[in-house]
Amino acid sequence: MDALAEVVSIDPVLGLRILSLANSSAFALSRRMSDVRQAVSVLGLRSIRNLALGLLVSDLAPQTPFGERLLEQSIRRGTACRLIAEHLGIKEVHEFFTAGLLLDVGLMTLARTDAKLAADLSCMASPSRSVRERVLGLTPHAELSGKMAQECFLPEATIAAIEAHHHDEPGESPLEKATWLAERVAALFDSALVERDRELLVHDGAKLGFTAEVVEDILQRTPVEVEETAQAFQRQLPPQHTVDELTENAYQHLIELNAEYEVIVKDLERALVEKAELETQLRVANELLSGLANTDELTGLPNRRALQGSVDYQLTMSERSQRPLSLVMVDVDHFKNFNDTMGHAAGDAVLRVLGALLQELVRGVDIPARYGGEEFTLLLPDTDEEGALVVSERVRARLEATVVTEDVPKPCKVTASFGVATTRGGESSESLFGRADQALYVAKEEGRNRICVAPPLPGARGESEAA
Ligand code: GH3
Ligand code: MG
Ligand code: MG
Repeated sequence: MDALAEVVSIDPVLGLRILSLANSSAFALSRRMSDVRQAVSVLGLRSIRNLALGLLVSDLAPQTPFGERLLEQSIRRGTACRLIAEHLGIKEVHEFFTAGLLLDVGLMTLARTDAKLAADLSCMASPSRSVRERVLGLTPHAELSGKMAQECFLPEATIAAIEAHHHDEPGESPLEKATWLAERVAALFDSALVERDRELLVHDGAKLGFTAEVVEDILQRTPVEVEETAQAFQRQLPPQHTVDELTENAYQHLIELNAEYEVIVKDLERALVEKAELETQLRVANELLSGLANTDELTGLPNRRALQGSVDYQLTMSERSQRPLSLVMVDVDHFKNFNDTMGHAAGDAVLRVLGALLQELVRGVDIPARYGGEEFTLLLPDTDEEGALVVSERVRARLEATVVTEDVPKPCKVTASFGVATTRGGESSESLFGRADQALYVAKEEGRNRICVAPPLPGARGESEAA
């Protein structure tokens, strides 16, 4: 305590501010404090902390008209909260004053970058306020204020009461009840429908066990004590009106409320446009991503993953239409040797050339793909063994005749072997791939640079016509 008094008395201005605040109605002390040491020892640590927090909130509010409006909101909530605490029979009311004072403190951070927005938000009616916060992508102020209270090491109960002050119903603890009702008392002073909201407030007060007279007492004393507290903070506030005066001014408020809704509607429209734009961007990004995931980087052909999808689909179609479907497996001959002598980059160049040939030499409905490594496939819908042989021979002959000159140390040639399997439905993709692979193996065995057709599945439909 001595050390604390020492610290406070180093700064005479701070000392005076603490005294002034301690003696104000905000702290409702029974006797007047005349020096800081006395104040510190009488008030105790918790009160000094509350005093300091009061000064902190006051200092956070910018010294501008918007800052003053914001501070007015905080002081009003603090004051209302303290008055409510009195009526709840609480002794340590400054704990309640502090909680009320901090309800809107989250907006003070916003005020540093946009004081007008923060001030506008603080006087908005509760529902439009949360809509606006959400539309602007702001963290709800109750959450922000709670976080700040946490950073100031306030007790759990106070933090919970701050976070819950916009809930639909009051919480269990006296602090939660007080912040909840204080928010509604303060909002009445910004209401466009004072008479209606005054009745609603009586209803809300009843939830805390208050009679209409108690609510009225809180309403009458709030503006008076807000002014006193502002003086203790040595801050200028706009003139405070009684609720009766507010009723007279309600027409002006109604105009402001309409303006407020216009702003919200514009916000919503803008948010909808932004949403549509984001959706487009997301779709484009997804398409790109799925393109990347399904495309082989080296050749630009569909990769194995994409091929699997196509095979499943074409097998179903072939089954339904009872039309043949052919799968050709293509494998470069002695490619390991080629890589070893010409280099891996030359190998890649050859794979690109073969990929381009496959694309060039097949029909639009045919699906060339890179199966992996130096193995390619051709998926040929509506094509029987004979047709698959024609296509394969076209590719085989062109590859044999092609001299690769780009990205190779010297002009070179490669050949490839082909395995063809044809299905007429009723066959799994594993079986179809297995047969094509088997045919490819035979082509390799028989000397490479050739095409081999797999025997039809025993008992398969259309076997006799194929034969
Ligand atoms: P075979 O005629 O029996 O098919 O002989 P091969 O050497 O082609 O057979 P193998 O399957 O053993 O070798 C394939 C080689 O293909 C191994 C690897 O060096 C090469 N390879 C696989 N993928 C790539 C690639 O993306 N780029 C390059 N440059 N080479 C690849
Ligand atoms: Mg191979
Ligand atoms: Mg090979």
